[in-house]
Amino acid sequence: MMINTDVLVIGAGPTGLFSVHQLGIIGLKCEVVDNLDKIGGQCIELYPDKPIYDIPAIPECTGEELTKNLIEQIKPFKTKFHLSDRVEKINYEENKWLIKTNKLKEFRASSIIIAGGVGSFEPRKFTIKECEKFEGKEIFYSVKDKTIFKNKTVSIFGGGDSALDWAIELSANSKVQLIHRRDEFRGAQASVDKVKKLSTEGKIELLTQYQLSAIAGDNKLQSISIKHDSETIKKIETNYVLGFFGLVMQLGPIATWGLNLDKKTIPVNTENFETNQKGIFAIGDICAYPGKLKLILSGFHEGALAARGCFKYARPKEKLKFEFTTTSKNVQSRLGVKKND
Ligand SMILES: Cc1cc2nc3c(=O)[nH]c(=O)nc-3n(C[C@H](O)[C@H](O)[C@H](O)COP(=O)(O)OP(=O)(O)OC[C@H]3O[C@@H](n4cnc5c(N)ncnc54)[C@H](O)[C@@H]3O)c2cc1C
Repeated sequence: MMINTDVLVIGAGPTGLFSVHQLGIIGLKCEVVDNLDKIGGQCIELYPDKPIYDIPAIPECTGEELTKNLIEQIKPFKTKFHLSDRVEKINYEENKWLIKTNKLKEFRASSIIIAGGVGSFEPRKFTIKECEKFEGKEIFYSVKDKTIFKNKTVSIFGGGDSALDWAIELSANSKVQLIHRRDEFRGAQASVDKVKKLSTEGKIELLTQYQLSAIAGDNKLQSISIKHDSETIKKIETNYVLGFFGLVMQLGPIATWGLNLDKKTIPVNTENFETNQKGIFAIGDICAYPGKLKLILSGFHEGALAARGCFKYARPKEKLKFEFTTTSKNVQSRLGVKKND
């Protein structure tokens, strides 16, 4: 199904969220796509509990609090978020941008705002090339359907919360090995204790100081070999492999959209934050211009100008009037403000 909107915002980090507000107050509709399964970009993924001290007029707030407030501020616009989905392809047809995502959603919009930060967060993968062959079939970096693991052997790699939590959960119905390259785990102490308990009860096989060294199987995964620090190699017959090594940031498909790139950033015109492609704007950490500061406050300003830049594509016959939120009846009605005067 084709979703028609004025603007497609790529990225639900702080900059993308505030651009939704700026589009909303000038009367433009938008939809937001983010690769992550939650709203907030780096603030939520990398530092939800850390205090930020340089958001104007907010002396101190955490990444999570900032995200909550940005979401609260755009509530009146009832914006639709498409999470755990990545924009893959864009094409220009009949004065509109056609946008396709990983999950095959399609959008038609007069403009695109790229608020993609440092690119999409993607799982860090096994470095052994052969693994690609089994990816999505027997090797996974996240769990979408845990029922496939029932009564199977599952080899879980990693030392953080995801690895520990899935080892605990799957051990109820599967034969589980938890394999980690160090002796110490990074996850919550309660989970570490639980894994150790399940290991002494024989419900999880714990293999520390081991790393994946080889993988075997033709069409179907048959076994893996893991290498101990002491060079010993152990072969394990297994059905599934799960790798939880955290996230890396990749520019990903954005690099293939015909945009001028400067290393991993997109040069923009600072008048309206438009890129070299008409109707495509870039804001936040992903945009580049002389003097650019990779700060949230700069992203807010960039979003305000990009939103106004989108107006001429969405409403080519209208002129955008400059208005203050304090006094504009139009803006206040879009925000659903009730006046008692
Ligand atoms: C530890 C840490 C502390 C920081 N402290 C501060 C601070 O004190 N003050 C400050 O101002 N800044 C701080 N920053 C920087 C700040 O977090 C960034 O400047 C800000 O997050 C940039 O916002 P953004 O919206 O441009 O991008 P991001 O927050 O990176 O969000 C981009 C989003 O786009 C998504 N995305 C990318 N490509 C695609 C695609 N193709 N399809 C779908 N989705 C896609 C990503 O998944 C991501 O969620 C800090 C950063 C870190 C890591």
